[in-house]
Amino acid sequence: MPSTVALLGIATMSCVMSAAVLASLLRAHVRGVPRWCAAYGFFAVGAALLLIEQRTSASLGTVVAFPIFIAASLIIVQGTREFFGRPTAYVFEYAVAAAVLVALVYLTCFRPNLDARVAVSSAYFAYVRIAIGWTALRYRPPNRPRYNYYFLGIAALAGALLHVVRSITYGFGFAHERAFLDPSPLNIGFLGLGILSFPFMSIAMVMLAHDRLAERMERLATVDELTGALVRRAFIEKAEAAVAAAKASGTPLALGILDIDNFKGVNDRYGHAAGDRALSHFAAVVSRSVRRGDLFGRLGGEEFAILFPATRKGEAWQLTNALRAAIAAAPCEHTPNTFSAGIDEFGPRDTLASVMARADAALYAAKALGRDCVVLASADDEPDQRIAQVN
Ligand code: GH3
Ligand code: MG
Ligand code: MG
Repeated sequence: MPSTVALLGIATMSCVMSAAVLASLLRAHVRGVPRWCAAYGFFAVGAALLLIEQRTSASLGTVVAFPIFIAASLIIVQGTREFFGRPTAYVFEYAVAAAVLVALVYLTCFRPNLDARVAVSSAYFAYVRIAIGWTALRYRPPNRPRYNYYFLGIAALAGALLHVVRSITYGFGFAHERAFLDPSPLNIGFLGLGILSFPFMSIAMVMLAHDRLAERMERLATVDELTGALVRRAFIEKAEAAVAAAKASGTPLALGILDIDNFKGVNDRYGHAAGDRALSHFAAVVSRSVRRGDLFGRLGGEEFAILFPATRKGEAWQLTNALRAAIAAAPCEHTPNTFSAGIDEFGPRDTLASVMARADAALYAAKALGRDCVVLASADDEPDQRIAQVN
């Protein structure tokens, strides 16, 4: 069996398998995956048509397979941009694809020139891979593990390099193709490596889709769906790390516990759904009012916590009072629009639990003082019970 036929058979099967594996991810609704899946399906059809041409000497190759390859290439690039949340389609790309198609038909039917055809098609395939690789490396999410994104970037750019070399080799007459897909060692080498780039890219795409799913799960596990604040467990985990860092660097650290006032009344009077909207509104106002680097978590129900890094308790008290003003200035349909809070600062021997307990006691004091106020916890070395209040 001529080697080109074997390679085309392998290419067809590998594209079918890539499409099938990507299809298994369709129900996960990851952006870009349907386009990737469709593109591999089209590549498989195109490769199968070339294979049939090799076996039967029919001239299906350029007539049907090349438009399919060109369309599939556009789709795979668009899928990659869609995955990264970028604008997918550009007019110039459609124009280039049309021009390449016209050139390939011209170089096949009107002025047959195999070398020029290889040069044009490889230049186009190089562009497609550069667009994929560049998108993956340029728009890699900074907070995700790099490996998968580099994998796609490097696989695509290595494929691009191969096509650039192939385009130059045939375009500048360093080699000649005697017949379409002629099984010369050079051609087999180019084809073999070019075909390898397909499964490499599809494996990378599956890895990217899985990373997106992992990111979703991690988000569900760390962010409270109703309020967008950190869930209790995630808040405590991150706060413990911040406590250790503050102790190591000797920087101050303060903590506030906030509780919405008379919230049960909102539920009782207007229903649980209105209560949910009020909670979500409260958290949205707090989230956009806290500083970058402050940690905002939902401890449970209508009780929240804020960790203020590099902050003394006096400043945390001021910041929390500013939050009270922000909440009062942004009324929501039925919200009581006030909260009470207790604040404390970490001492050298403190743990997160000890400071949370003292801030909680200060919160109870705030409730006892009539609500809608912020109270500083008294420190062990401050027997005079310094309570600050703003009404
Ligand atoms: P206080 O000023 O003393 O804090 O009074 P309160 O009514 O806010 O406090 P209480 O602890 O008596 O009631 C808290 C209420 O918060 C009870 C519960 O139904 C409501 N709640 C807790 N979690 C949710 C939630 O996710 N959604 C809604 N709608 N209500 C919630
Ligand atoms: Mg309450
Ligand atoms: Mg409460």
